Amino acid sequence: REKQLSTLIRRRTKTLDDERVHLMANIETAKELREVKRVNAEGIGLYRTEYLFMNRDTAPTENEQFRDYKKIVTRVERPVVIRTLDVGGDKQLGFGYPNKSSSESPLGLRAIRLCLNHIDLFKPQLRAILRASAYGKISILIPMVSNVDEINQVLTIIKHTKAELKAEGIAFDRRIKIGGMIEVPAAAIMADVFAQKLDFLSIGTNDLIQYTLAIDRVDDAVNYLYDPTHPAVLQLIKMVIRAGEKAGIPVSLCGEMAGNDRYTRLLLGLGLRRFSMDATYLLNVKQQIMSVDTTKLRYLVGKVINADSTIEARDYLSKLNTL
Ligand code: PEP
Ligand code: MG
Repeated sequence: REKQLSTLIRRRTKTLDDERVHLMANIETAKELREVKRVNAEGIGLYRTEYLFMNRDTAPTENEQFRDYKKIVTRVERPVVIRTLDVGGDKQLGFGYPNKSSSESPLGLRAIRLCLNHIDLFKPQLRAILRASAYGKISILIPMVSNVDEINQVLTIIKHTKAELKAEGIAFDRRIKIGGMIEVPAAAIMADVFAQKLDFLSIGTNDLIQYTLAIDRVDDAVNYLYDPTHPAVLQLIKMVIRAGEKAGIPVSLCGEMAGNDRYTRLLLGLGLRRFSMDATYLLNVKQQIMSVDTTKLRYLVGKVINADSTIEARDYLSKLNTL
């Protein structure tokens, strides 16, 4: 099977009905780049930079971050989406930030909320990302945005940071793309509005499921309720994909769901054409994509997302997967 999958590596990803699909990789550290290269991912769809900040006593400096981002983009030689610091909840920093107790809650001061409250943490990262953008195709991804004010604030901070760099004579990509993670139900419902402000959207199903279903993603006691096929979750995903189509901006999905080939047909049927996942799953998903005709998925996908219950949804999903 490994051998059979490896024959897919050099082939262009498209469905039987010639729909082009883009497969990108999620990484946490540069160590994963070997596998990213091996499977021939089209780029990095999600670089989780928080791992650069964890397990240490101080925040990495701007220069340290710059060197890391530059190394990654030059090694990958393909587009890289760098997500700004997404700590809080299950990901905690080793060095003290106020409001630590709040940041431990998944509903607390995490991700972009923490960054907007601690510009001293945010600014060096933005400078480092912008500086690295002179060395390859980089986009900036903002985690856990929940309202338009946060987007406006981030856009203003980036604008000022660019002006600073320009005044200092430091090179960067002036047209760097800025996207938002859609991982809070409010963001999915407002996706039309967010799409007017941003260059691309990326659906974070790990958190979107957590927040939509009110299930702490690290609490084992409610693990059994954590369900990507809950029709409410699927309808939100669909709304985001439609919002992107309407606004003419790319929408990708970078939660674990993207790497599970049980959901590949479903997501294709919902209109998704960009997936980002752990590179080890990429060829499995590619195989699914290359063996499916999307025009035949419509009826059963409609059944799955309009199901009354998860049990019914799963039943239709099995039918969809054996079509
Ligand atoms: C997500 O929430 O789906 C996601 C990709 O981000 P993380 O798992 O890092 O929260
Ligand atoms: Mg998330």
